[in-house]
Amino acid sequence: MRFPSRAEYKDYYFIKGKEWRIEFCKFISKGDIGECDEHDRVIRIKTGLDKQELFSTFVHEFLHAVVFEYKIKGITHKAIYTFERALVNFLIDNPTALRHFLQSLQLKL
Ligand SMILES: [Zn+2]
Repeated sequence: MRFPSRAEYKDYYFIKGKEWRIEFCKFISKGDIGECDEHDRVIRIKTGLDKQELFSTFVHEFLHAVVFEYKIKGITHKAIYTFERALVNFLIDNPTALRHFLQSLQLKL
């Protein structure tokens, strides 16, 4: 599986119809490598991560944003890490899965 480079991430993504900006920062609070700012709807990711670490961090912060936008209650930080690992490992174990899903969706449109 080839993980996307920093340049391949969009500046923003929509989650439940709300725009979430993606920012790359040299420093993030508390020495973290990612941050989900629910107030300003910004996902911040530290610069200098390798591609896999960057992708895992993006998935992790995306999950925080999903929990926020969908008002999902009772999700612990440990659960976020587990979902992050599960999603990233699914893509590693099934490197063509997304392409197949996208092709299948296009056939149905
Ligand atoms: Zn977190």
